[in-house]
Amino acid sequence: MQPRRFVVRQRRQDTSDTATYVLEPLDGRPLLFTPGQFTMLGRLGTGEVPISISGDPASPLLVHTVRDVGGATHLLLQAQVGDVLEVRGPYGTGWRVGDGRGGDVLVVAGGIGLAPLRPAVLDLLAHRDDYRSAVVLYGARSPTDRLYPDELEAWSSRGVDVQSIVDHGTPDWPGRVGLVTSLLAGAPVDPASTLALVCGPEVMIRYVSRSLVDLGVAPDRIRVSMERNMKCGVGLCGHCQLRGLFVCTDGPVLPYSAVAPLIAIREV
Ligand SMILES: Cc1cc2nc3c(=O)[nH]c(=O)nc-3n(C[C@H](O)[C@H](O)[C@H](O)COP(=O)(O)OP(=O)(O)OC[C@H]3O[C@@H](n4cnc5c(N)ncnc54)[C@H](O)[C@@H]3O)c2cc1C
Repeated sequence: MQPRRFVVRQRRQDTSDTATYVLEPLDGRPLLFTPGQFTMLGRLGTGEVPISISGDPASPLLVHTVRDVGGATHLLLQAQVGDVLEVRGPYGTGWRVGDGRGGDVLVVAGGIGLAPLRPAVLDLLAHRDDYRSAVVLYGARSPTDRLYPDELEAWSSRGVDVQSIVDHGTPDWPGRVGLVTSLLAGAPVDPASTLALVCGPEVMIRYVSRSLVDLGVAPDRIRVSMERNMKCGVGLCGHCQLRGLFVCTDGPVLPYSAVAPLIAIREV
């Protein structure tokens, strides 16, 4: 529960409301994590919020991508290079990408949902030969809302089939327009041997997961990352509780088979 201090080494404005921070531990000890985990992140003296780790698990630096949606994230995004942030964690479950070895891995991301999935993709790339096909389907609101556009191209050139789609195109957007669900049926994977990793707005998770089941992917081979309001991050306060599940400790990455009956429960 004791926060550690990290200094901001880089700050990159990704989109109009989202920025990526590269953080270095002041005590010199790298924060070891598994793809899919999150930290409780905050500026000194202000609130902390759960933010997924979006960096490379093999790097000693900690990377977070933050979208400005309210009070705490707005304050967080005021942090500039040289400022100090407080970090608790890492917490929660991971994607366990390695369970897809020998078969196909299908990553489906919506909006900021690509951030928690980025470490999984980097892990896939590091062991690309262990998997038959690796596919990333990414839906964003508009071309300029796409995260990490340069990396998406780099992933393509390294053996990952990356397909992007936007809700609203622009005259210079050469790609597809529509919802990410429309890419699922054409994804070059064999549903019977696919591990699917899904993150995005809850409504997107619901539709994507149902479509994947319809296509023949087993519900326990679909992993989703749930985002619920959290306070403690360690299973004490109950803010993120969904019936018997604590999203912070049982999740955030959960099999769709466990989440399907709960996903319609609204947050209070
Ligand atoms: C495990 C986990 C990982 C997350 N990873 C990231 C990440 O990598 N990057 C990122 O930008 N955000 C991430 N979030 C969401 C982030 O924690 C919330 O956006 C943040 O807590 C909102 O706090 P606020 O004070 O800025 O906004 P508030 O003023 O509290 O809320 C503003 C709006 O955002 C909604 N909101 C608040 N908390 C959440 C939440 N947890 N999920 C969805 N909507 C919420 C509120 O209902 C409200 O509509 C993650 C959340 C969880 C639980």
